[in-house]
Amino acid sequence: MALIVQKFGGTSVGNVERIRNVAKRVARWKALGHDLIVVPSAMSGETNRLIALAKEIHPQPDARELDVIASTGEQVTIGLLAMAIMEQGCKAKSYTGAQVRVLTDSAFTKARIQSIDEQRLRADLAEGYIPVVAGFQGVDMTGNITTLGRGGSDTSAVALAAALKADECQIYTDVDGVYTTDPRIVPEARRLKTITFEEMLEMASLGSKVLQIRSVEFAGKYKVPLRVLSSFEDEGEGTLITYEEDEKMEQAIISGIAFSRDEAKITVTGVPDRPGIAYAILGPIADANVDVDVIIQNASVDGITDFSFTVHRNDFDKAMAIARKVQAHIGARDIVGDSKVCKVSMVGVGMRSHVGIASQMFRTLSEEGINIQMISTSEIKISVVVDEKYMELAVRVLHKAFGLENEPV
Ligand code: ADP
Ligand code: ASP
Ligand code: MG
Repeated sequence: MALIVQKFGGTSVGNVERIRNVAKRVARWKALGHDLIVVPSAMSGETNRLIALAKEIHPQPDARELDVIASTGEQVTIGLLAMAIMEQGCKAKSYTGAQVRVLTDSAFTKARIQSIDEQRLRADLAEGYIPVVAGFQGVDMTGNITTLGRGGSDTSAVALAAALKADECQIYTDVDGVYTTDPRIVPEARRLKTITFEEMLEMASLGSKVLQIRSVEFAGKYKVPLRVLSSFEDEGEGTLITYEEDEKMEQAIISGIAFSRDEAKITVTGVPDRPGIAYAILGPIADANVDVDVIIQNASVDGITDFSFTVHRNDFDKAMAIARKVQAHIGARDIVGDSKVCKVSMVGVGMRSHVGIASQMFRTLSEEGINIQMISTSEIKISVVVDEKYMELAVRVLHKAFGLENEPV
């Protein structure tokens, strides 16, 4: 007998029939003697609909009110799912984040979980109930409703699993595991039986939305056994996230390819090359709470250089406005912005012990005439920034060139 947290994504609870199927699955696990905590997302499309409603009232909705609105999607599914579980002959009880007391900071729309009060859930479990806890939401110290950022139900589930020291956290979604890349873009993509925590963290942070990055961070911090599975199939072991490299079953050099369209590039040209320039440009950007990702500075010619960096596309206008202010101040020639770029990244712990991956990646892209605008590397990943129109092509040719569709030997 184990304690298992099961999270079901939006598509998995997308209509009443699917909610019934989820309830049947939950009841099957319960019948095996397990203790369960179930965490649903809102029905697919619902969170988008709610945010769009708020934006009809005001294009930049007040963040506190936006969370009040966006969090309601999950309040509907917890009630429906609890009822459907009772229909299966089990005892169930729904809870909002505030009712459990999923305590977060007050950063509306991107709050971080600080603690979870598990007492009530433990008491329910002891009485044979299946608690159904709303994903994506919490409450701050003063009682304000908060949400955890898009895709945040994953994090709710992992945080609950950590707080209750669950034996496993199962993330049920519309694919049957973590693939070598998004199977919607590359149909030949292959499901991975295991992926290391570090690789999953990179994949999530580089754009693979199968798990929200914070859920992976949380899982790593508390070593939560985490598995991604299909909610539409009865069998299948999905993908297990492992914490030691030697637990990894496949010894591929590259585990996966991630991509993100949410990028924008800003170049400051004709910058005098002297100490303090990077700070003069990026300091005010950071002060405005804008995250900077890839940064490059050219070698200077006659004491003048170009300086480029990328930001999330949502922050592009804000960052451009700041860069223009800085331009006058530091005496740079011009500011050039491009919000039509994307980032494609290859991830794999095997890169640590293999050379030539970067050159093979660059050759593959050049053979397709894809110009690389920026490059960034770490021990286990290589990212390139390219024109957005080449994104899918780049992912496909790299997937093929590195033979990711084949089981590694
Ligand atoms: P849910 O609503 O269940 O949380 P998401 O849409 O957030 O589901 O995440 C699942 C989706 O992630 C898949 O449908 C798939 O298109 C996408 N995805 C992106 N990269 C990957 C990957 N490497 N492996 C599997 N799925 C991926
Ligand atoms: N419903 C929220 C969203 O759409 C949270 C989630 O699905 O994980 O972002
Ligand atoms: Mg998701």
